[in-house]
Amino acid sequence: MESATPVTRFAPSPTGRLHLGSAHSALFAWRLAREAGGRFLLRIEDIDRTRCRTEYALAILDDLAWLGLDWDGEVRMQSAHFAEYGAVLSRLSARGLLYPCFCTRADIAREIEAAGGAPHGADGPLYPGLCRNIPETERQARVAAGEPHAVRLDIARAMAGVPGPLMCEEVGEGTFAANPAPLFGDVVLARKDTPASYHFAVTHDDALQGITLVTRGDDLKPAVHLHRLLQALMGWPVPRWRHHPLLRGPGGARLAKRDGAAGIAALRTAGRSAAEVRAMAGFPD
Ligand code: GLU
Repeated sequence: MESATPVTRFAPSPTGRLHLGSAHSALFAWRLAREAGGRFLLRIEDIDRTRCRTEYALAILDDLAWLGLDWDGEVRMQSAHFAEYGAVLSRLSARGLLYPCFCTRADIAREIEAAGGAPHGADGPLYPGLCRNIPETERQARVAAGEPHAVRLDIARAMAGVPGPLMCEEVGEGTFAANPAPLFGDVVLARKDTPASYHFAVTHDDALQGITLVTRGDDLKPAVHLHRLLQALMGWPVPRWRHHPLLRGPGGARLAKRDGAAGIAALRTAGRSAAEVRAMAGFPD
């Protein structure tokens, strides 16, 4: 159970500079922690080595400090922990809950077309299961031969192996039972080019960093269903969740990193004060 002193975090992906939408998320978590005398941690989610850049990570930290946010302890950089994610995943693998998937995007698209469609989940069409039943000897031979593969969770086996119901609490809304299969299917936990996926690394790190209150934009709300399952499988503590509505632009459109006008750097250069920018991000003093 979360005590009166929550541990929250802000976990940006450095694919661009901080903008008003992400500043809103950071301020939301920071305020919740500080008002309750809790801890606020920072984590840079930079596992995607093609899209993330160190210079953006440094600029995000600089913009956060300029906005007046302070954080506790060291900043965790996910890209420094690839070996750790691989080691933890191999524990799930040893339990027979993972399988290598050799499919390309084109293989999956062809299979879905041939089947006349696939149910839609939170991240797109569900994986149709092409590699789920490849015999173990063939799997091992193909992996040993260096064939590129992702690693998927066999979600039916995983759900069968944990005592349910898997209860989750969304602060202010109440509790509900996680039901990840129709939302995620056999989700990827390690990608071909990266030994972790967002879902795996974020759940691993929230547990490792002792996060008791996960806050983030409500576009990621469905992910709770899967994260709760991963926590049950790994025996990790279960935090509470609090998702906030995304900050919208004047026309109601979602703020994107490419909207230069919403960039904190541009606002700084234009002479706005930190208090003004905090107010624009939804947190007037
Ligand atoms: N790294 C994710 C993002 O930038 C946030 C993940 C989270 O807060 O759980 O959208």
